[in-house]
Amino acid sequence: MHPEDTIPTDPADEPCEQHAFDRRRMLLGVTAGAAAITLAPVAFGPAASAQAADGTSAAAPAPGSTVTRTVSGHLDTGAADFVYLPVEVPEGVQQFAVQYSYDKPTVQAGTPANSCDIGVFDQRGTALGGRGFRGWSGGFRTSFEISNTEATPGYLPGPVGAGTWHVVLGPYQVAPQGLDYQVQVTLTFGAPGPAFVPNYPPQRAKGRGRAWYRGDGHLHTVYSDGRRLPSEVAAGARAAGLDFMVSTDHNTSSSHAVWGQYSGPDLLIVTGEEVTTRNGHWLALGLPAGEWIDWRYRSRDNAFARFAGQVHRSGGLVVPAHPYCPYIACQWKSGYDDADAMEVWNGPWTYDDESAVDTWDARLGEAVRTGRRWTPAMGNSDAHSVPQVIGLPHNVVLADDLTTPDVLAGIKAGHSWIAESSAVQLDFTVTGGGRQAGIGGTLTAAADAPVDVRIDVSGVPKGTVRFITDEGQLHQESLPDSGTGTVVWRTTTSLAAYVRAEVRQPMADGSPGQGNTMGPALVWGPMAALTNPVFLRVG
Ligand SMILES: [Zn+2]
Ligand SMILES: [Zn+2]
Repeated sequence: MHPEDTIPTDPADEPCEQHAFDRRRMLLGVTAGAAAITLAPVAFGPAASAQAADGTSAAAPAPGSTVTRTVSGHLDTGAADFVYLPVEVPEGVQQFAVQYSYDKPTVQAGTPANSCDIGVFDQRGTALGGRGFRGWSGGFRTSFEISNTEATPGYLPGPVGAGTWHVVLGPYQVAPQGLDYQVQVTLTFGAPGPAFVPNYPPQRAKGRGRAWYRGDGHLHTVYSDGRRLPSEVAAGARAAGLDFMVSTDHNTSSSHAVWGQYSGPDLLIVTGEEVTTRNGHWLALGLPAGEWIDWRYRSRDNAFARFAGQVHRSGGLVVPAHPYCPYIACQWKSGYDDADAMEVWNGPWTYDDESAVDTWDARLGEAVRTGRRWTPAMGNSDAHSVPQVIGLPHNVVLADDLTTPDVLAGIKAGHSWIAESSAVQLDFTVTGGGRQAGIGGTLTAAADAPVDVRIDVSGVPKGTVRFITDEGQLHQESLPDSGTGTVVWRTTTSLAAYVRAEVRQPMADGSPGQGNTMGPALVWGPMAALTNPVFLRVG
């Protein structure tokens, strides 16, 4: 914090003794998992400070009257992750509204510019994982409003209770010049309106029994930093040929309450959240409707396991997302011990996805060595806005039926593969010793018994099939121009601890890729499909 922090006097608010600001009351401490600072409180006076709607001074706040307070300050590089601005909310407030702004001085290329998130906690407090959360809009909005009846997307409608609320700033990038901010809080007095009625989506759609279901597990809307409405995302999921989708807006559960009207017999909508920590993002998939997961910690705060545990107790899945995304604070640093799956393919295929697949593949070998649970792969679009394509990529999951628990169970068991679109179809099996196993399964056979690995693919013209084991790529074969073909390769349980398949698009020059060669050029075209492994066991 900068020593010149002030709460300037707003002439419209005079007179008001609550403006008295004592810098010594500025509290530096850890009120959440990450480093945090709490500013001096902003008080909204008793009735006398209200400005009646008709301009006269009112003895008691007239319905519709408002009071505004403005706070400004400066943050230097190295500011706390979260800056808490306490706001004393009196009785009789109908609406809590905030506007904020901050400067954006020019910075050299390669230097982070100012970027400051915002959110709010109510009188129930700011404790990590506590009950006071009332919304978060990241850096996407410059204002928000909350009342009993409605709230700005990202925020939770409900009672505007009397007590100390906290507006929270999250200055996640501070330029070398520092960051000057201004926060304006406006309370509107009046009786609360009718209570908001949530419309949560059902946990079941009309399925086909035990079958393969397609779904995108990572999607954003205007309820966080996407530009698509929930109606548009649901329409996009249907257009992509998906059976299910998961809503994963950043750091808020507020969209859960609107999905009911967009789900249907043909589309299962699963509620979730993308938990955006300062050391990577993770998906909480299948949260009970309305449940929120806190994100206010770094890897070194060692709080991730606590919140992963909360998700698990609620029946949801924990999935670290885009672990090598190069954006600030996006690389995953909290490990995979608590992960149910790993997002190895995020949106259109890019080099960070290659890194994620390499890490995931290495972890398969580790799981075989240690006997610990292996981590299945997921692929999701992370689509926010046009032109990002919903369903590029998505998961094709073997589930007992089209219900939230069944789909989550299929993902957790690794009975799934990833497709770039619903035009891609595949079937991958391993047969030997009189037995057969499919994706996510285990085949047990004598050490020297022939084991046939077979994939039937369609929808990838000129694509290249790769079979990969714990020894690396053991077989490569191109598909015909039609994109439909079958590739078979023979191994044994003594040679391969697991086998998995990739189907790659041709390289930009039309060639199939260079197999397991070394050189300065890219080796592969974009991924078209990737399977979870089948494990091979000597027995
Ligand atoms: Zn993310
Ligand atoms: Zn995302």
